[in-house]
Amino acid sequence: MIVAEQKPIAEIAGYIDDCNKVLLVGCAGCVSICLTGGEKETGILAAALRIKRRLEGRPLETVTCTATRQCDPEYIDDLADLVMDADAVISLACGVGPQYLAARFPDKQVVPAMNTSFAGGSNGHGVWEEYCGLCGDCVLSLTGGICPIIRCAKSILNGPCGGSQYGKCEINKDIDCAWQLIHDRLKAQGRLETLKQVLPPKDWSRSRDGGPRKISREDVMT
Ligand code: SF4
Ligand code: SF4
Repeated sequence: MIVAEQKPIAEIAGYIDDCNKVLLVGCAGCVSICLTGGEKETGILAAALRIKRRLEGRPLETVTCTATRQCDPEYIDDLADLVMDADAVISLACGVGPQYLAARFPDKQVVPAMNTSFAGGSNGHGVWEEYCGLCGDCVLSLTGGICPIIRCAKSILNGPCGGSQYGKCEINKDIDCAWQLIHDRLKAQGRLETLKQVLPPKDWSRSRDGGPRKISREDVMT
């Protein structure tokens, strides 16, 4: 999932300083699961913004709703009436949501409430960690299911780098050396021979490709 953190209240409030009424739109997707942009967090942010403005003697009216997904036009369309009635829209989705809202409602100011952080997962209550750098050319089959792009501090494709000590990374002693983990995993699987296969330099054009990436699947197009 996409993991995101909420921006500081002062920053969000600054973006809507000249507004009297704002619509806050949460997202029931990834940001809901990582407890930053779901229905509950949307209500809490709305309350915090109202309190701040009341203390300043400039009351703010807020309306809240939560889209099933902000990365899907059909759910954005459903918000039309609420958006038209507000001075600005605050999106609590990852960076995709504000862009969908801004494209659908070009006359309306759209404010991101989140800093989108990474693609990862939960590792215990309240802990999320990055697992994938979205490189577009996955090599996990050759690395024991451990991503060298993200989990190696130097993103080395043919490791280790030589600085690994006692299983820890030389850059950050708090993390395990990814290549030690890869070695241990492949050894446990009886597949150490895999390490003799030299991975070629990464084709980063599949990651950036001179602009936003796009996947079109004819089999699911109507
Ligand atoms: S190799 Fe690429 S696609 Fe696979 S997990 Fe790592 S960054 Fe993600
Ligand atoms: S010590 Fe291991 S994880 Fe750290 S940079 Fe070197 S190979 Fe990568």
